[in-house]
Formats: sequence, C-alpha cells, structure tokens
Amino acid sequence: MKKTIRLLCALALILNVCTLAAASDTGPTMDGATAQKMLLEGNKRHVDGKAGHSHQDAARRTEVAKGQHPFAAVVSCADSRVPPEILFDQGMGDLFIIRLAGNIADDAALGSLEYAVEHLGVRYILVLGHERCGAVDATLKGGEAPGHIGALVKAIQPAVEKAKGQPGDALDNAVKANVANVVQQLKSAAPFLKEMVDKQSLTVAGGRYDLDDGLVQILP
Ligand SMILES: [Zn+2]
Repeated sequence: MKKTIRLLCALALILNVCTLAAASDTGPTMDGATAQKMLLEGNKRHVDGKAGHSHQDAARRTEVAKGQHPFAAVVSCADSRVPPEILFDQGMGDLFIIRLAGNIADDAALGSLEYAVEHLGVRYILVLGHERCGAVDATLKGGEAPGHIGALVKAIQPAVEKAKGQPGDALDNAVKANVANVVQQLKSAAPFLKEMVDKQSLTVAGGRYDLDDGLVQILP
C-alpha cells in the first residue's frame, strides 16, 4: 500500500513539473474575467488620480527582457490622448497593444493578435473606442479622404451606416457601433481567433474611453 502511495506521489510530482514546464512556454495565462477586472481596477486608479505607475522601472525592464507574458491585448485608437498603459495604469510587459486610428484591425493587426493569443497566452482582448474620435468623426462628415486616409474611412464606414438614425449623439453612436463591429470582426476571424472564441478560451470585449473623466466603460 505504501509503495502504491509513493508511486502515486511520484506520478503527481512528475505531472506537476510537466504542467509548470508547459506553462512557462506560453507564460502565465490569465482568464478573461480576471484580465478585465485588472484593467478596470487600473483604470479606476487612473480616474481617481491614484495611479501606481508600477512595472515602469529598471527592475521591470530587466525582468521582461527575458520574455513577455502580457495579461491582455488592447486594440485602441492611435489618438495621442488614449495611451492604454497610462489609462489602465499598467507598465512594461503587461499589455499587448495594437493602435491604428479609429481602433480598426487590418490583416497585420489580426496576425499580431493571433501571435499574442497563440504564443503569449493572452485570453482577453479589449477593443477600445473613445469619445470624440477624429477618425470616426471624419468618416461621419464624409468628403474627400486624401492619401491613405481612405483606408481608414473605408474600414469605419459600416459603423457610420449602422448608427444612422439612432437617437442621441451621432458621433458617439458611431464610435460605439465601430467598436461593436471590430469586436465582431475579431470574434469571427477564422481560423484561429474564431476557434478560440468558440471554445470559450478567448474573450473579446468592447469599451469606450471618456476623454473628459478618463473612465473606461465596458460596452454591452
Ligand atoms: Zn480616435
């Protein structure tokens, strides 16, 4: 009997070591609910003027030089007033970030997110729109889109159409519709992201950042 117990203990130890080894390949995976909670707690510190500015020192730089294990990915606008690390009070190695005007996602963005999910163990993606977004506003107003700006307008246009006729502020409605469209785009991005969402291994959520008070609101 004692021999059997010893054998079981040895087996458990081996399995435990194997699990740890597997986890170190992709880094610590944080589930979607916990990742969202951490982001919103960081945003509250930012809003309250109590940012901790952690993970921004030389010690953290040395730590993450060995490898990155971000706990969430954020798809946000290139707008200089919406820097995810600051508004979520995070530091180096915490967030995997894609930033294009209008928080849109092109093929390169999708490929980057696939890398974050598949190789870095990210299980939560937040698509973050913001109040008075210039890219959405320009699309809403129409007119000429010179140079490569046309690519942005083309990507945002479906949201403007979707929000047409809705009661309330036209620009804010279009911002929210654009976030919803990009969330849906990521959720249905076959094969990898879609598969992860379908088996409930990946959460993709949308949010809106308020330029005035700094608050991030998770959109339904
Ligand atoms: Zn913007």
